[in-house]
Amino acid sequence: MNIIVSPHYDDAVLSLGNFINILLLNGEQVLVINLFTDCPPNLEALSPVAQLYLREDTGKEEITVNDALAMSNVRKQEDREALRLIGVKSIDINLYDAIYRGNPWYYPLEKDLFSGINDNETSYYKDIIKLLNRKGLIKKENTYYFPAGIGSHVDHIITLKVGLELMSFGYNCNFYQEFPYNYGSFEESNFDFSRLNFNQRIIDVVSDKKSKAIMCYVSQRQWLTKSLKEMNVSLWNYSEKIWTNIGGKYHAFK
Ligand SMILES: [Zn+2]
Repeated sequence: MNIIVSPHYDDAVLSLGNFINILLLNGEQVLVINLFTDCPPNLEALSPVAQLYLREDTGKEEITVNDALAMSNVRKQEDREALRLIGVKSIDINLYDAIYRGNPWYYPLEKDLFSGINDNETSYYKDIIKLLNRKGLIKKENTYYFPAGIGSHVDHIITLKVGLELMSFGYNCNFYQEFPYNYGSFEESNFDFSRLNFNQRIIDVVSDKKSKAIMCYVSQRQWLTKSLKEMNVSLWNYSEKIWTNIGGKYHAFK
């Protein structure tokens, strides 16, 4: 089984939609695991960054906690539809998105999301591994695809650490470059894959299914358009990039 680990709802499709399609065409089994998909049900207030992102996602000026709950459901539905178009199954792990974590908030401002892991969460990746293990999702015969942490979003860095830790235990872990953070070279990665046993794989076959699937993420359209504009890049001629594990021992991270 190929397991694509997606920090948020859209990361798997945006970053690996064409690759997933290739795997499926080759008759391989693929499962997407969405990690940070939820907001707390008893949310009392919204951080400045949560308000900022929800304003962008909903198009509304005034945001309440109900909008956060509603948006979680909207994004779930959008992702279901996108993955249905690609033809891949998914599991939501229902962890809270970084913008909702901590009391007081661990990441109150947008810049905090991109400035490293909060002290309270430095071993969070270990809890996530235990949780995935309890759900039967950690198996030696699986091939994993984790985000490379491009762009340094804290949820992506934590997910990367899950992958690096599993790799140190001998699991087959590969790392993909996240779109739209990653437009550019392989060398922009947060982690130096080049000194380890990895090959660079570029997927430059564009599938119609990915294009259609991306259209499902209506709530993310404003953010995506803005990001693409900033990088002066088109979604349609973008090549997916993967660091492919070619074996060997790995202990560098601890
Ligand atoms: Zn993400």
